[in-house]
Amino acid sequence: MPLYDSSWYTDAWVRLGLRRAKRERKERGIDYYKEGRVNVVSIAEGEIRATVRGSSRYLVTIRALPFPPGANRIILEKLNVILNLNTFPEEVELELRLKGLSLLPEKIDYDCTCPDNARPCKHVVATILETAKIFARDVRKYLVFRGFKSENNFDVKEYLGDREEMENHFSSLVKTMTFMYSPVEDEELVRILRKMSKVGDTLLKKLKQNL
Ligand SMILES: [Zn+2]
Repeated sequence: MPLYDSSWYTDAWVRLGLRRAKRERKERGIDYYKEGRVNVVSIAEGEIRATVRGSSRYLVTIRALPFPPGANRIILEKLNVILNLNTFPEEVELELRLKGLSLLPEKIDYDCTCPDNARPCKHVVATILETAKIFARDVRKYLVFRGFKSENNFDVKEYLGDREEMENHFSSLVKTMTFMYSPVEDEELVRILRKMSKVGDTLLKKLKQNL
């Protein structure tokens, strides 16, 4: 039984994200996901940030490179259908494959602040599942994550300011159809976001070096 109404591309996203997961981490991560322990804080171009409640609150960052320009063009041609169906028809992937492209990233990178040495840890596993659910519910969020560019600007700007700035930023984000999942809770969240953005920068550097 599926954990949510999945699409072929969200299934592929889960397979990609979990392919290196050890069985025990996978099982615990699925439990964490089912228990609603994941709070996706933001989905922006190339980066997802989430907090996961375990024995403590851990910070998960997931990164992937944006669509290559050739893919953007094909997606743009089919954008109406994609948005109306709220998924990517398989023909879109087929057309991309014929050009050596894909809707799925070649690799995803992730990090977590927990002490577990295994990667992905159960927190990353749970976050991958939670994001698959989010993507299945709203294909636009996947477009945002993969940096899709069109006239409808789905860009989500980085937050790097103080609390007031963040709140203003968050409310403007909501107005412009972007995707924040948790209200600003407290000073702790501000600290968490700062820390996550540092973790994220390091990951992006690594990801680029590996290309
Ligand atoms: Zn972890």
